[in-house]
Amino acid sequence: GFKCGIVGLPNVGKSTLFNALTRTAAAQAANYPFCTIEPNTGEVAVPDPRLTRIAAIAGSKEIIPTRISFVDIAGLVRGASKGEGLGNQFLANIREVDAVVHVLRCFEDDDITHVDGRIDPVADAETVETELMLADLESLERRAEQTRKRATGKDKEAMTILPVMEEALSLLKDGQPVRKMLKGIAAEDRKILDGLNLLTSKPVLYVCNVAEDEAATGNEQTARVAAMAADQNAETVVISAAIEAEVSQLADEEQAEFLESLGLEEPGLDRLIRSGYLLLELITYFTAGPKETRAWTVRRGTKAPGAAGVIHTDFERGFIRAQTIAYEDYVTLGGEVPAKEAGKARDEGKEYVVQDGDILLFKFNT
Ligand code: GDP
Repeated sequence: GFKCGIVGLPNVGKSTLFNALTRTAAAQAANYPFCTIEPNTGEVAVPDPRLTRIAAIAGSKEIIPTRISFVDIAGLVRGASKGEGLGNQFLANIREVDAVVHVLRCFEDDDITHVDGRIDPVADAETVETELMLADLESLERRAEQTRKRATGKDKEAMTILPVMEEALSLLKDGQPVRKMLKGIAAEDRKILDGLNLLTSKPVLYVCNVAEDEAATGNEQTARVAAMAADQNAETVVISAAIEAEVSQLADEEQAEFLESLGLEEPGLDRLIRSGYLLLELITYFTAGPKETRAWTVRRGTKAPGAAGVIHTDFERGFIRAQTIAYEDYVTLGGEVPAKEAGKARDEGKEYVVQDGDILLFKFNT
């Protein structure tokens, strides 16, 4: 499955957010309750209104949403890249996630100590990012040195990797995260970069944790964070962890009322989960029948056999074709049979790139 790591300085609201996230109704949807995989890791259902519409048309008994994982990665202190505190463990944990959710304190509260004694989320982000950049710089410099030697010896692999390494290195030396080079990067270079498994090339979502009365509007600090994010190919979500903690304890009917009283349309967690999904460049396809309507997650660009493999490896190995109906056709025409009659059920083969919302039925050899 896909994993987002929650990071940030101490006392910014990481645990509050993580606990709300894993206690919320979305996490407990259908028959997939929040489950603890290991301490500090939780799986949450991805809210998707399309599921109920498909299920109503297909007459499904059950709805099964797709899920992503969140990991609460505590223990960052200044000097982590030098092994201070739980530094090495912290960095190793980040290395294992697909994307970073960086919580920034944007609320004032004199009772809650800030490690640096002031509210400055942009400076906080830099503190954390500096540790990650230092760790990347050290590991990459070592590897680049060896790769340069091999490249002069006309080693083909080294010669293709080296330019990507050098570009990443020059960003790091300039005090900039490697994800700056992601915008418009060629697919082959992206593969090489992913293979380097750097900390600062992972996609980042900044979560601005604000006071209850600023959840709907944001504040001066969240505007500064948004400007920083825009400059870095990162995303921002404004959330009040305190509100989310309360919401996660309420029944559905009470939730809507409570959120409305705060000027909010939906739980911030729904936005966070969706943003995490976008951040990871994930899309959803569906399977639908009388038994269940179910959502499945694949990375954008996945071909039909790979998508089948998410359900079962046998589906991928014996893949023949996929009957494919676009979501819009499925709902406007009223399901599989009318879609077929209207010629909107396509038979797609091995090279078909699955699209978000596709309703698929796989034909395969066993
Ligand atoms: P962590 O160290 O980053 O995991 O931070 P915690 O989630 O443990 O939060 C630290 C303290 O800040 C706790 O006392 C929380 O109750 C408090 N806190 C978290 N979010 C908010 C918020 O949105 N507003 C206020 N006023 N306090 C918060």
